[in-house]
Amino acid sequence: MKSFIIASNNAHKAQELNRILNPLGIKALTARQAGVELGDVEETGETFAENARLKARAAFELTGMPVVADDSGLMTDALGGAPGVYTARFAGENASDSENINKLLDEMKDVPENKRGARFASAICCILENGEMIEASGFCEGKIAFEPKGSGGFGYDPVFLVDGGRSFAELSDSEKDKISHRGRALRSLKAELEKKLKE
Ligand code: IMP
Repeated sequence: MKSFIIASNNAHKAQELNRILNPLGIKALTARQAGVELGDVEETGETFAENARLKARAAFELTGMPVVADDSGLMTDALGGAPGVYTARFAGENASDSENINKLLDEMKDVPENKRGARFASAICCILENGEMIEASGFCEGKIAFEPKGSGGFGYDPVFLVDGGRSFAELSDSEKDKISHRGRALRSLKAELEKKLKE
């Protein structure tokens, strides 16, 4: 199995990346598991793709190993695309998941059901041992709930409703991976990686 360093210290995200990448023959190690301390990378990009590149480059420079970075976030119609690249720090630097969720629900408290459309985006940047970069992206359409429900997942999962009205936090891991932004982006990365390996 090929090993990649995950350019993230988010344990939940690492777990998801591994769940999806393992069956593809890729083992994803957090930098810490590989014995490297990865500092926080400043996410100064204006797009998810730029931020994924920043994280991947920093991890690659530090480790010299193949890396995979995900930058993701939530965009809502009612708030003109916000929180977007500010998703992780919507309620301030180092905000907790529940602080971020509360801010989102508060800002959308007067938004009617039919205007609560939203989507998650994931940008993946992978750098191979020879420095070659492969990028992929994935999206998942949904709606913002009026209140949190479900106990699985992480981040904004309890307020992101998908087809059928269940929240991401109410789906099993495999149900989420099948439709999630990250699942889609990683499957598209896999296809690109397979092409490269054949070249
Ligand atoms: P990043 O780690 O800098 O990419 O920030 C991602 C932000 O989007 C964090 O606030 C995450 O909680 C949130 N996020 C990304 N993917 C998901 C997901 O699948 N479910 C819920 N929240 C997510």
